[in-house]
Amino acid sequence: MNDQDNKLKNYSVTSDLIKLILLIVAGLVIGHLFNQFLYSLIFSLSIFIIYILYTNYIFEKWLYNFKINKSSTYHQKHQNLVSKVNSDFKNHNIVQEKLLALEKRFEELSESMPDAIVVVNKNFETEWFNKAAVKILSLKEIDIGKPIAHMIRNPSFAGFIKKNKVGSSINFISPLKYDLTIKCFMVPYGEDRNLLTFRDVSESDQLDKMRRDFIANVSHELKTPLTVIFGYLETLSFSDDGYVDDDIISEMLKQSKRMDILISDLLKLTKLQSTDIPDKDFSQINLKTMANEIKTACKPEALKNKNNVTVLSDNDIFIKGSYEEIYSALINLLSNAIAYSGKNIQIEINYLARNENQVEFYIKDYGAGIPEESVDRLTERFYRIDKGRSREHGGTGLGLSIVKHIINRHDGKLEIESAINEGSKFTCVFPKT
Ligand code: ADP
Repeated sequence: MNDQDNKLKNYSVTSDLIKLILLIVAGLVIGHLFNQFLYSLIFSLSIFIIYILYTNYIFEKWLYNFKINKSSTYHQKHQNLVSKVNSDFKNHNIVQEKLLALEKRFEELSESMPDAIVVVNKNFETEWFNKAAVKILSLKEIDIGKPIAHMIRNPSFAGFIKKNKVGSSINFISPLKYDLTIKCFMVPYGEDRNLLTFRDVSESDQLDKMRRDFIANVSHELKTPLTVIFGYLETLSFSDDGYVDDDIISEMLKQSKRMDILISDLLKLTKLQSTDIPDKDFSQINLKTMANEIKTACKPEALKNKNNVTVLSDNDIFIKGSYEEIYSALINLLSNAIAYSGKNIQIEINYLARNENQVEFYIKDYGAGIPEESVDRLTERFYRIDKGRSREHGGTGLGLSIVKHIINRHDGKLEIESAINEGSKFTCVFPKT
């Protein structure tokens, strides 16, 4: 509201009348004192007329702001004002009708959607939901105003709400129907609200589970006979009765070892995809210890390739997670750097705070590098740039896929930068504890 608006808002006829009476009284008193009634009365009235003209000027200016034509007579001004108020009123009705139509369309749209939609405020209290929310989540009118986590009682969902990470999603089992898997997406809505969508993903989740179970079962089934064959081959390789060709035995041993690693990696991947990290496995991990441990473990490989591995940082920086999983991810990255960067290559291990909320651990080599078109595909299962090289190193093509899953389930992300003949940098970004 500007100055003029304020002046007009404070304007009242009563106050003008009081001012007139006060001026006349003051004029009469002064006139009485100086015995000049008429002059002082004329003077008081003149001041009042000037005041009225000034108020009128302010009013005209205000009308002008509202695009009402300046007019010479009061009658015209009055007419203009009335027609302006009338047209504003009509416009207001039109806008209101449009808004109502829009609201109706939004409601129809949201009601026809198969997904449950819930609008929550910044404290995650329910403000609005559609019909599907009644069906999928059993929400009722009386639930408006209550925290959404009280209505959907599931620990994973409660954790998801607590994290308040917009743009993220979570799958959880419905607390009302155990055969119902729900996927919830969180997106920002308005200034400080969130929109939660809940989708029944039971069918695709079931298919996904069947696929994972199938891989796990096949791998288990293959592992047992393979262990037996492997055992017999080892026994044969130590006996020198001369009946079997040594080369054949050693090739069979090599291949069965490969199969064994492949099956172990497949089982590892299935486990990472289908289970959460058990609470008991969580601990504080010092990245300094981790960096030095993986360096020591890879020393023989590095010596063989004449690679120089250095740990740059000496700080104690902690993250929270499963020591075993993080160790296996980071050692995989270092052993890849040693195996694929080339000989006589400088490799750096470093860890540092990236910002207030994140820390990063990277392994950087100044070796062969990776073709640009392959960088984004490295974490795909079985993707290898040079199959022969990978086999030589004992690789299965599942390593980086496993690394990515481990980092992801620690709420982190894996970043890969590389340039041919310049080297590669694999960075694991973790949340700060
Ligand atoms: P593998 O089991 O074959 O090692 P990974 O998933 O660990 O599978 O790696 C996929 C491919 O990425 C490797 O076959 C290799 O070609 C490439 N690669 C990984 N790390 C590097 C690196 N530091 N430098 C060059 N190539 C790399």
